[in-house]
Amino acid sequence: MTHDPKIAGSLWRPHVDSEFVAGLRCFASEHIAPHAQEIDRRDVYPYKIMKALAAEGYSTVTLDPKYGGAGRSYSHAVATFEELSVASAAVGISLITIFQAQTMICLFGSHSLRDRYLPQFREGLLTSYALTEANHGSDIRRLDTKAQFDGKEWVLTGEKSFITSGSAAEFFVILAESPNGVSVFAVPRDIPNLEIYKGNNSATFGLRNGPHMNVRLQGVRLPSDHLIGVEGKGVRQAVTVLDYSRTLAGAISLGIARAAFEGALTYARNRVAFDQTVAEFQGIQWYFADMLTEIDAARLLVYAAAQALDRHEEIARYSSEAKLKACTVATDVAAKAVQICGAYGVTENAPFGRYLRDAKAYEIAGGSAEVLKNTIAKYLVRGPVTPKAPT
Ligand SMILES: Cc1cc2nc3c(=O)[nH]c(=O)nc-3n(C[C@H](O)[C@H](O)[C@H](O)COP(=O)(O)OP(=O)(O)OC[C@H]3O[C@@H](n4cnc5c(N)ncnc54)[C@H](O)[C@@H]3O)c2cc1C
Repeated sequence: MTHDPKIAGSLWRPHVDSEFVAGLRCFASEHIAPHAQEIDRRDVYPYKIMKALAAEGYSTVTLDPKYGGAGRSYSHAVATFEELSVASAAVGISLITIFQAQTMICLFGSHSLRDRYLPQFREGLLTSYALTEANHGSDIRRLDTKAQFDGKEWVLTGEKSFITSGSAAEFFVILAESPNGVSVFAVPRDIPNLEIYKGNNSATFGLRNGPHMNVRLQGVRLPSDHLIGVEGKGVRQAVTVLDYSRTLAGAISLGIARAAFEGALTYARNRVAFDQTVAEFQGIQWYFADMLTEIDAARLLVYAAAQALDRHEEIARYSSEAKLKACTVATDVAAKAVQICGAYGVTENAPFGRYLRDAKAYEIAGGSAEVLKNTIAKYLVRGPVTPKAPT
């Protein structure tokens, strides 16, 4: 028993044009939902689904039309992540690594990089965003992956870990330490001396879209224009892109929370105990009232963060608040949904374990709750910092 489309229609009013949302709901229920449990159980990248999403234009929602994108608002991007992730958060995170690479190139890439790579997203380019290393997670100011310029080309050596979508990615955005600090590089998958492999820690209990791969670079040589942005400004650039993607991560968590809520409500309305439905117990009703209130609050915050992205104002503040709130709400709602569904909620057959595992994993991936609180606190102490708008 999973989410009921009738509940989606009545409870979650679209924040963007209803035709766009109806298209997403239709795609999610027809093409994603039937495969969601299997993607999670087998821990595989949803390759066909991602190529189909690109063909529909969902991986280029905000991209400038001159590169083949739809040029829509970030509220449309949020709606896309929210609706698709109701069916599968694994699809949501497969899409977010595409948006992260796309955003890095849009915001900081040279004209030649933009012209070469941005049109490929409309054709279904699959990408990863590689910051983390075995010894560097939240703190990326120092890295063990090194980049040296030999006068003609950049040469990268080191290893990244926990790289989401790495099993299928055709292109990587990689952070490495160069002589003047940390820098960002565009790395095609098929370049010599690049190895992608499943490490000891690649399999996670949540957000399973294929193992989170290790990426080993052993003297990978890149043309000079594959440095993205300014040498030594990589941390600032990477954090700016995270500021964009955290709003989308919040939308994925909203999707998880909605799925858990809808599944539990459907179950409680049908399950009978002590001569009444489970939904008729006041104790259970209070759970639902709390869950709905929290989801509505998180949803308002996530769409407010999308508007901040469109206005290019207070992005770090709102995206951090949105991810912080939505991720914790998703974990709380998923845990309550298990409780409401009793033994059925705990079975492997039911989707509630997946919701709970995905929600919890997202309290760490893409910026842990603690790091998000640091960002919000920094905003309070230092005031707003507005990243450069895409040109
Ligand atoms: C499912 C999943 C997918 C991922 N996908 C990717 C990916 O695609 N690309 C990528 O680059 N990385 C990815 N990661 C890695 C992820 O970004 C890191 O796990 C995250 O940044 C935290 O780093 P860490 O695990 O090394 O924890 P650490 O940085 O070692 O932190 C450990 C604990 O200390 C806390 N902490 C750290 N610093 C502070 C501080 N300043 N103040 C307060 N508390 C602090 C953390 O919040 C955490 O609770 C993924 C991780 C997961 C779980």
